[in-house]
Amino acid sequence: MNVDIEAVLRRHGYDGTRLIDILWDVQNLYGHIPAEHLPQMAAALNRSPLDIVETASFYHFFHTTPSGLHRIYLSNTVIAKMNGYQAVYDALEQHTGVRFGDAGEAALFGLFETPCIGLSDQEPAMLIDGVVFTRLTPETVADIIAELKAGRTAAQIANPAGLPEDDLAYVDHLVTSNVLTRGPVFFSGQADHTALLKRCLGSSPEETIGTIVESGLRGYGGAGFRTGLKWQLCRAAAGEDKYVICNADEGEPGTFKDRALLTRAPKDVFLGMVIAAYAIGSRHGIIYLRAEYAYLRQYLERQLRELREDGLLGYGIGGQPGFDFDIRIQMGAGAYVCGEESALIESCEGKRGTPRLKPPYPIQQGYLGKPTCVNNVETFAAATRVMEEGVEWFRRMGTAESVGTRLLSVAGDCRSPGVYEVEWGVTLDEVLSMVGALNARAVQISGPSGECLSVQADGRRRIAYEDIGCNGAVTIFDATRDLLDSVRDYTKFFMDESCGICVPCRAGTVDLHDKVELVIAGNAVQQDLDEVARWGALVHANSRCGLGATAANPILTTLEKFPEIYRRRLRTEEHTLLASFDLDAALAGYERARTELQTGGTA
Ligand code: SF4
Repeated sequence: MNVDIEAVLRRHGYDGTRLIDILWDVQNLYGHIPAEHLPQMAAALNRSPLDIVETASFYHFFHTTPSGLHRIYLSNTVIAKMNGYQAVYDALEQHTGVRFGDAGEAALFGLFETPCIGLSDQEPAMLIDGVVFTRLTPETVADIIAELKAGRTAAQIANPAGLPEDDLAYVDHLVTSNVLTRGPVFFSGQADHTALLKRCLGSSPEETIGTIVESGLRGYGGAGFRTGLKWQLCRAAAGEDKYVICNADEGEPGTFKDRALLTRAPKDVFLGMVIAAYAIGSRHGIIYLRAEYAYLRQYLERQLRELREDGLLGYGIGGQPGFDFDIRIQMGAGAYVCGEESALIESCEGKRGTPRLKPPYPIQQGYLGKPTCVNNVETFAAATRVMEEGVEWFRRMGTAESVGTRLLSVAGDCRSPGVYEVEWGVTLDEVLSMVGALNARAVQISGPSGECLSVQADGRRRIAYEDIGCNGAVTIFDATRDLLDSVRDYTKFFMDESCGICVPCRAGTVDLHDKVELVIAGNAVQQDLDEVARWGALVHANSRCGLGATAANPILTTLEKFPEIYRRRLRTEEHTLLASFDLDAALAGYERARTELQTGGTA
C-alpha cells in the first residue's frame, strides 16, 4: 500500500464521488496519475482501474503518463492568434527544446495547446503548473523558461513578492480584472450582506421566490431560463435533500466575465447561492470552478471562510435556527462540455462529464439524484442585487423580455477589450462604439456556439432575447481578418470538445470541420456547402446537448452573413473532377510512393 495515495484517499473520505479531487491530488504528487497506483485507488473507491483511467482521460488537464515536470498549456483561441500566438508558440518550443504534444519520460517540460482559459482580453496567455501568465511575448517566454530551468517554480516567478494566495492583491497581480464599466447591477460596491440576508429571512421562501419571479430575472448562461421558475420547480420537487450549484465553468471561447465577477464581487455570488438555498430549501452548495481559474481557489476559500465567520454560511445562518447551508468548491479539470448543467453534475459526482438524457431535469434529479438548482455566476450575483434593490428597480432596466443588465466579455479588434456592463437592449453599434471598434466588420456573439453578425447588416439590432440572444461573449473582427480562419478554429474546437456519446455529434463535428478545411484548401464545390447545411441540421436535431446542437453555427452563420468568403474559394465546375476530391493530395501520395520505389525505400 502506498502511504501517500492512502493519505489522499483518506482526505477525501474514500468517496468515489470525489474522484476528480482525488485525481488532482494524485497528479499534484506525481506529475501524472501513475498506473501502478490505480489498483489501490480502485479498491478503496469501489471502482475499476479502467473506470478511473477512462474518467481521467476525459479531462484535458489529467495525464496518465509522464508529461513533463512543468506542464505548460498555451491558450490557442482565435483571439490569441490575432495577438502574437504563433511567435509565443515558437518561442516556447525553442526555449524548452520540446515540441508541442511531446513530453518524454524524464522531460523537464511538457507543452500542450488548450482552448480558451478565460483570458481573451490579455492574450497570448498560458498556464504553467496551474499558474497564469498573460500578455506573453517571445521575450517574456524566454525569461520564464530560463527561470524554470534555473530551478524556480512557476508560482515563484509569477509572484516574486510572495503575496498570500488568498489575497486580492495576489489575484490582481496575476490577472487584470479589466472591468471597464461598473454597475448598476454588478460590481456595485459595498453591499451589507448581513443586513441584506436578515431582510431576506424576514420573508418566507415562497415570498423570496415570488420576488425573483416578479423581477423577470433570467439565467445568464445563454438559454435565458426564468430563474424564479427554476427555483419554484426545485422547491416543489419531491425530496428532503436539495442542492444549489453555481456553474463557474465559463468555457465558451471569448468569455471571461465570470472571472471578473469572482474576483471583484465574489460575495454577491455566494450570497445569491445562500438566498437560493433558503428559497428552495437546501443545505448543500457547490461552486464548480473551472480548472483554468485555479489561481482564484484560495481567494474564494477565504471569502467562504469570512462568510462563515459572519454567520452567513454554516449552521443557523442569519441567526435563523434550522437554516443550515454551506458551500464547497469543486474544481473542474478541463472540459468545455461540463458547462452543460447535467455534465457538470456528472463531473461533481466524480465521473466523465457526459451530458445526461433529459428528462429528468436537474431540478428533479440532479446531483446524487437529488433536486438540484444550477445557476451561473452572473445569475447568482444578479439575484443578490434584486433582493437588495427590489423588483421595481430591476425592472426599470432593459427590455420587456430581457430585464436588467448583463455583462459582456469583449475581445478581438477593438481599442479596449474587457468586461462591460450594459443594459439589455443596447444595439450592436452602441457596443462597438463603446469599446472602440471603429473598423469592425464581423462580430461573433456568444462564442462559437452563437452567431456571426455582420456589422453592416446587423449594427442596429439589439442585444436582447427579443433579438440577439447573448451569453456574454463578444469577439470582434475587422476587415483585415480572414473569417474562415476563425470558422476553422471554432469547428475544430467543437470536434475536440464533443464528448462523443451521440454519433451525429461525434462524427458530424469531424465532417463539418473537414468541410471547412476543404473550402480553405480551395477544393470545395457548392455541393459541399449544401451538405454542410443538411449535416448541420442533422447534428442539431440528433444531439443530446447544446454542443452538438450548435456545432454547425460557425459555418452556417458566416455562410449566411458572408457568403462571399466561401464562394470565392469554391472550385468552379470546369475545374471539378469530383466533389471533395483533392487531386494534389492524391498525387502527392503517388509521388512519395514512386520516389520510395526508385530509392529502394531509403528516401
Ligand atoms: Fe456529447 Fe455532443 Fe452528444 Fe453533447 S451533443 S452529449 S457533446 S456527443
